[in-house]
Amino acid sequence: MSTVIDGKTLASKLRFSIKQAVSELKIEHNIVPGLAVVLVGQDPASHVYVKSKARQTVEVGMHSFEHRLPENTSENELVDIIEELNQKPEVNGILVQLPLPDQINSERIINTINVNKDVDGFHIENIGRLSSGSSSLVPCTPAGCLILLRHTIENLSGHHAIILGRSNIVGKPVGQLLLKENCTVTIAHSKTRDLPSVCQRADIVIAAVGVPELVKDNWVKPGATVIDVGINRITDSLGNKKLVGDVDYESVSQVAGAITPVPGGVGPMTIACLLQNTIIATCRQRQIRIPPAIE
Ligand code: NDP
Repeated sequence: MSTVIDGKTLASKLRFSIKQAVSELKIEHNIVPGLAVVLVGQDPASHVYVKSKARQTVEVGMHSFEHRLPENTSENELVDIIEELNQKPEVNGILVQLPLPDQINSERIINTINVNKDVDGFHIENIGRLSSGSSSLVPCTPAGCLILLRHTIENLSGHHAIILGRSNIVGKPVGQLLLKENCTVTIAHSKTRDLPSVCQRADIVIAAVGVPELVKDNWVKPGATVIDVGINRITDSLGNKKLVGDVDYESVSQVAGAITPVPGGVGPMTIACLLQNTIIATCRQRQIRIPPAIE
């Protein structure tokens, strides 16, 4: 039976350190970091995420600014709002909740965000900085995966990691972070041949495909560490709605050395890392030292 990697507890510890850092910024520099979240449309899951982000932002002592816009907002209207937020000194981080409605080009919107306020780390310049190994705002879910791995494995150097999924928001940045940790990285995707046997060779499996319970026990090397990024809402055979990951937890937890549950694994880390990025962004904008609590 595997060790369960408790993302909920780790995220709560990180939020505690963030709260300390926020209070230090207030006392030493009279600064209160501010995070603006922009939501366009009525996607129910996005509304839940935005509410949770705003609540946690306020809980750690930061200012939260919410912009909820109608589904028919035009691309130019959204660009204008982001440019306004770019100019506001009280806004240190800007996040545009994805997905955006079809009439809006997400890439243009993300690249309109001031690169130093891009707390999601999706701006092309932050992606380039991450890939070239220089200092950047790192995407939140990948940053959360790395914290969970560092908590589980003392020295990541030399480990073989397979990442299932090559999206710009999860798969590729996780790959860059693990390369930086001196892992040997394989990135697999829907065209990878014989995925189970490629997967079996890895010491670390990170699943980010969006396919419910794709990874089975016979895909995983005994003792491997498994990080499940997937969030899939399914209806089970009894008609109950439930949340499952991209890993078949029931069977894989019998062979893995350590595994994240869904929910309660990667999910809680994502928002905590967003708050951490907001502090990092604030300190860089004001050219002050990042408080040791979150260094
Ligand atoms: P995308 O849909 O953008 O990318 C999915 C990737 O998985 C693609 O690279 C695709 O390959 C690959 N893929 C799809 N099916 C298979 C398959 N059968 N075998 C191998 N590879 C496959 O997804 P995201 O990266 O945005 O998200 C992945 C999952 O993570 C989702 O469940 C999402 O909900 C979750 N998520 C969770 C977050 C959290 O906070 N916990 C945050 C972000 C995402 P190809 O490129 O060839 O099409």
